[in-house]
Amino acid sequence: MNRLYDLPPHEVVAGVKNRHFSAEEYVSQIRERILKLDANINAFVNVNSDEAINVARKIDSKINAGEKVGALAGVAVGVKDNISTKGLRTTCASKILGNYVPPYDATVIRKLKEQDAIIIGKLNLDEFAMGSTTEFSKFGPTKNPWNLDYVTGGSSGGSAAAVAAAECTVSLGSDTGGSIRCPASFCSVAGFKPTYGLVSRFGLIAYSNSLEQIGPIARTVPGIISLMNVISGIDTNDDTTRKADAPYSQEITNSRLKIALIKDLTNGAQTEVSKCIYSAMDIFSSANCICDEVSLESLEYALASYYIIAMAEASSNLARYDNIRYGFDLDPDGYEWNSYYSKVRSNFGEEVKRRIIVGSYVLSSGYYGRYYLKAQKVRALLKQQFKALYSKYDVIISPTMPILPFKIGEKIDDPIKLYYVDVDTVVSNLTGMPAISIPAGFSHGLPIGLQIMADEFQEQKIFDAALHFEKSAKIQGRPAI
Ligand code: GLN
Repeated sequence: MNRLYDLPPHEVVAGVKNRHFSAEEYVSQIRERILKLDANINAFVNVNSDEAINVARKIDSKINAGEKVGALAGVAVGVKDNISTKGLRTTCASKILGNYVPPYDATVIRKLKEQDAIIIGKLNLDEFAMGSTTEFSKFGPTKNPWNLDYVTGGSSGGSAAAVAAAECTVSLGSDTGGSIRCPASFCSVAGFKPTYGLVSRFGLIAYSNSLEQIGPIARTVPGIISLMNVISGIDTNDDTTRKADAPYSQEITNSRLKIALIKDLTNGAQTEVSKCIYSAMDIFSSANCICDEVSLESLEYALASYYIIAMAEASSNLARYDNIRYGFDLDPDGYEWNSYYSKVRSNFGEEVKRRIIVGSYVLSSGYYGRYYLKAQKVRALLKQQFKALYSKYDVIISPTMPILPFKIGEKIDDPIKLYYVDVDTVVSNLTGMPAISIPAGFSHGLPIGLQIMADEFQEQKIFDAALHFEKSAKIQGRPAI
């Protein structure tokens, strides 16, 4: 039988609906693939394969009975383990949520299930989505399928690696400062952060509410669009949601795009990376797009502002983990309040603790104005400046990551070096604007990602540019594993 795990989502749906193969055959192949590869890759923290096979059988029987099935019928979706799945453990890769089983589905999960997608399992991440490598996980690091000695990027490293290795067809991640795009870039897959408010955050375990969005990861751009057409739109459980322009088109709607490359981000990158992004621009130019280079000085303040705001919100969000409403098995008998609380909270990993401490500091009286307020001002300024750019250009491009993937362990002891790798991605979270990372090439066998950004709710422009590039550049599909 064909390698069904290699098919993009729309071909899975067509194959299952037209009975070229059954959903059960396809899910069984995926299950075998996970069994074969995941001991080395460590993308999954929980494989839901028995339930997945049951759901697949139900979909097959509906089809055999001539009943209607949903737009994602049979598609195996992996889910980052900070998105709530009813009855399926959701840990945030943290000891503190080690036994947490959500009593409800996140809105995105409900929407996927309504369209007959199959949840194949939960995927590894940095603890509470704080990190850029997936090394800060209680389950250990996920390894890059292109070279197992290298990091996958993060924090949605499991979501990107599982798709890259064809252990699932598509996945969901969350992106607070780049956590979908960074691992998508390092694993050579497509990863999309929607406009703030386009996808419901109900059921996403919060890290930094004003910055984050759930978004899809797929091997190619049409897969991203298929998922966005299902997960986007208003949700009464999340008041920040807005109406979507979905369905987005899988066909290019405008091929003469006006594109600006951000010099500051591109020239600041490692040579191999910046060369690759300049060749991407050549590809756009020869495909009849109008290309320019622009500079934006205030970008140099983006990273510091991002980390101040993200940590401030994290310190408040994580205050709820006191082991009373949910947590692990620690009997309060024999403790008074302070000692119990410190004992419980010592279960956070080092990086999470660091962020709670810095976050509380920047919000504290006397420092609020110096750090938090200033960061919010930078955020407003960046938004204004990007709005001005989008009055002239359809999309803006840059590298997704300033450097190539690096070895596991190489930067783990140096938080500042790790924060620095987010320099190109955080701006879209600060401005709330959408951004995608798509494969752009390789250097020394390691992937390089192209970032394409647009104004709020202009997702189709990003998809047009990404489809355009994907067609013209023809980057190698997946690693030979
Ligand atoms: N690396 C960034 C951070 O650690 C982004 C994380 C994310 O997007 N969840 O905050």
